[in-house]
Amino acid sequence: MKKTFEKSTNKPSKKLLKIYTQTLIVNACPYCRSKKFYVHGKYKFTTRYRCCSCKRTFIPSTGTSIHYLHKKDLFLDFAEIVRDEGILTLKEVCKRLDIANLTAFDWRHKLLNSVPKINKTFNKKIICNEFCITFSQKGRKGIRDESYQSNFTSCLDLNNFSQIISVSDGKFIDNKLATVGPLNDKHIKRILGPKLKNVNKFIYLGKNDSYQKTIGSKTIEFIQPGMISNDTKFEQKTEKIRKNHLGIKIWIGINMKGVATKYLQMYSNYFCYRQIYNFNPIGKLSLNLRYVWSVFTLMENFYKTFIINHTVKDYILPTKRKWKTSFNYSLAGSEIPY
Ligand SMILES: [Zn+2]
Repeated sequence: MKKTFEKSTNKPSKKLLKIYTQTLIVNACPYCRSKKFYVHGKYKFTTRYRCCSCKRTFIPSTGTSIHYLHKKDLFLDFAEIVRDEGILTLKEVCKRLDIANLTAFDWRHKLLNSVPKINKTFNKKIICNEFCITFSQKGRKGIRDESYQSNFTSCLDLNNFSQIISVSDGKFIDNKLATVGPLNDKHIKRILGPKLKNVNKFIYLGKNDSYQKTIGSKTIEFIQPGMISNDTKFEQKTEKIRKNHLGIKIWIGINMKGVATKYLQMYSNYFCYRQIYNFNPIGKLSLNLRYVWSVFTLMENFYKTFIINHTVKDYILPTKRKWKTSFNYSLAGSEIPY
């Protein structure tokens, strides 16, 4: 059913105005990150700025999760649901807010991209393990094979599994999608390399020999599955990782009814963040992330690079959606998923 077009009153709601005046803080150009910019008139109800370096104009929300949104107020309602109730099924949220499926899908991904990054440098002692989730191309047009639809499969072929490496200091668990297919030392090095600078004890809970090659025998300690330690504190920490893995698998497989591997990293970031913090997608921390629009629109490109360079899979059936402004922003490496 077509919705009747409501005439825009050009009057922002109180809630939206508060976002623009209090939550969004402009301290750099969202395109080139230069700190030199000046006020350049007004845009609707907000201030327009101009960058001295790249000369482009922008407003406080440029690049954020509310960038280019027509129904900003509805999006704020959506964000409040995520903040208060977590991620609901698309069906449920479409019904509640009377929005289209694709809108709900896009909005959810924008919010998942707004999960604050915990760029933690791990110190001294870390615990590591990996887990796998079935490779999924859910939602990709032209995919017929049922086994690709959900993250559950009876197939035990390792080539059909995404491998996720977990690193933990006992409190925060960082999960990174390493590959699809067998996990080797190159994948491990790519994921763990930057995290190991200050680590002098590396405890590995799995049974993949490739870790030895990457980490070196000097600092590594292998705790084989089933081995019992007398250290209760340590036992609690390893239990936390196991619970995290099981929790993610259940949440993705059952609550989310499967997640495409393309989006797996985002969902995992959200899951891990929520184990320690409350996620407020319209709070200062999330709403001031100016890479959200860029990462959201370039997701297919990142996925393609990941599949081609780091997995046993072929990149097939590219999605056709494109946005003109995707490449206007400079992205830092840490902002790119995978
Ligand atoms: Zn600029």
